[in-house]
Amino acid sequence: MRKHIVAGNWKMNNDLAQTQTLISELKKQSKTSNAEVMIAPSYTNLWPAFQATREEGEIEVVAQNMHFAENGAYTGEVNASMLKSIGIKTVILGHSERRAYYNETDDSLAKKVDAALANDMRIIFCFGEELQDRKAGNEENIVESQIKNALFHLDASAFKHIILAYEPVWAIGTGETASPEQAQNMHAFIRKTLATKYGDDVANSVSILYGGSVKPNNAKEIFGKPDVDGGLIGGASLKAEDFYAIVNAF
Ligand code: PEP
Repeated sequence: MRKHIVAGNWKMNNDLAQTQTLISELKKQSKTSNAEVMIAPSYTNLWPAFQATREEGEIEVVAQNMHFAENGAYTGEVNASMLKSIGIKTVILGHSERRAYYNETDDSLAKKVDAALANDMRIIFCFGEELQDRKAGNEENIVESQIKNALFHLDASAFKHIILAYEPVWAIGTGETASPEQAQNMHAFIRKTLATKYGDDVANSVSILYGGSVKPNNAKEIFGKPDVDGGLIGGASLKAEDFYAIVNAF
């Protein structure tokens, strides 16, 4: 059975004290679903967040990004071994904000994917079309090329370490959500794309998350769709109650 996963992407929010407060609020919530829970604080708060959650083990702390190089003159960057050295085992790659504001391309993402896998890290790989692509009816072509260009050089075995996150850019932080049917149609298309290249076993084993204005009031309907295995949550992950209402929507 595929894993259900709900991951909170905190983006550039929460200083140290706010991180500690939010984590203690999260720890007060009770989980009634079988979903794996992840949070992605900023780099500076990864270590304290890891320390604050490791005993209980219910919440995995993950990184929002990393560089592909092993070491070197990349001012301001963080690599996989640095993340691993503080206990971080999963990294989000390819978020649309990274693609839009920091020029992340399919090529650089393919390198990041390789570096993460070479370091035995799990990846949440994000992709999704922009509004103009959807208006032009081009969303499947865009999504297919984002997946193929960054991931299809991999062996089938690599997909044990990959979680996909479909995030239509027009739905991120806008309050506008893909309808459950739009999400299901795209997730089914993604699975079909994987099956064509790697076969049904791989396609049916990869968790595909939906991201884009998931809130407590719409999570149940979206997660109720057969090919939606969880969510990548931005805004609503910053409030413990809302986040756990989403976690418990399964
Ligand atoms: C995200 O940033 O990945 C995201 C889905 O944000 P939001 O839930 O705020 O739309």
